[in-house]
Amino acid sequence: MNHTCELDHFGKAKFDEYGRQQAVDRLHVVGTAKEKPFERIVDLVKTTLNVPICAVSLIDNDRQWFRASRGLAVEQTPRDIAFCDHAIRADEPFIVEDATCDHRFANNPLVLGEPYIRSYLGIPLRMPDGYMVGSLCVIDQQPRAFSSGEIEILKSFASLVTGELELRTIASMDGLTNVLSRTAWTNKVDAEIDRTKRYPVSLSVVMLDLDHFKQINDNFGHPMGDLVLKRTAAEFGKVLRKHDIAGRLGGEEFAICLINASAEMGLEIAERIRLRISQLRFSEHDMLRCSASFGVATLLPGETLAQLLKKADEALYEAKRRGRNRVQVADDQCLIAAA
Ligand code: GH3
Ligand code: MG
Ligand code: MG
Repeated sequence: MNHTCELDHFGKAKFDEYGRQQAVDRLHVVGTAKEKPFERIVDLVKTTLNVPICAVSLIDNDRQWFRASRGLAVEQTPRDIAFCDHAIRADEPFIVEDATCDHRFANNPLVLGEPYIRSYLGIPLRMPDGYMVGSLCVIDQQPRAFSSGEIEILKSFASLVTGELELRTIASMDGLTNVLSRTAWTNKVDAEIDRTKRYPVSLSVVMLDLDHFKQINDNFGHPMGDLVLKRTAAEFGKVLRKHDIAGRLGGEEFAICLINASAEMGLEIAERIRLRISQLRFSEHDMLRCSASFGVATLLPGETLAQLLKKADEALYEAKRRGRNRVQVADDQCLIAAA
């Protein structure tokens, strides 16, 4: 898939919010736990530029979320009052020397109240695909002009931030199937489970394992086996919603976390994926057919990811035992298994 940001006639990146949000989603960092490199960068920036406030801000749907920050009491703000939402509109430093004299910001709640922004310098975080995912910014509570030297320093730190974000994206993906690796999937789903404690929504997990996959390797060769894995994972994207989380747990086993999805919905989505996998055809081998078995489980209050996965795994095992190419819902969900 081509994820590159389109350029206009002048070679400048067009503002494409849909593609930009997708670029943010591909980072898989919004809402995840603190990480040292980002924490170090904001500390260094704060001391080097002698400012009370510094943040790595990511613009995510209708909010700005701070990957790391110093001097701020909140972890996010609405997007419509975010200075950083202005900073991502052009690939150049965004400077406000005195917010109280700027008609765009004079009545902004972040100027009139906490954290009492008076001056702002933000460098857009431009990813290699051209999309601006957020900004590295410094804020002062007094009017301030930023020197070209200070701007250059912040630019260098901003490129460190984008480098770190990029490395994490590469490291979090499974190289063959382009879904999340086991570790990245687990971290992200753990964070989602944590979030359900603050904002209760139902969350279900679908686990699937390709049936008799060893025979596919034996009969058609390992490269064909690899292609089956790739094509299987590619089917997920055709069924899942953008906030669902797909990962490869290992070998020919995948897991999908469905956010805001009951067991019934989990069953329905698993069933659609099951059908698609059974309908895959390969021009290299017309005889090749594949299928997968599925286990679906829904999070109960207080349950951990390990407990949820255990339930899904047991259901998956039951689906295998009952003949494969089928979906089984975990016992405590009181649903009848799909045929
Ligand atoms: P079941 O229906 O019970 O799941 O049978 P199975 O053959 O799918 O399960 P089994 O665990 O016996 O075999 C899984 C095979 O998956 C064995 C392993 O060589 C193969 N495999 C694991 N990772 C990869 C991979 O990345 N590429 C390919 N081509 N094969 C892989
Ligand atoms: Mg298998
Ligand atoms: Mg397996």
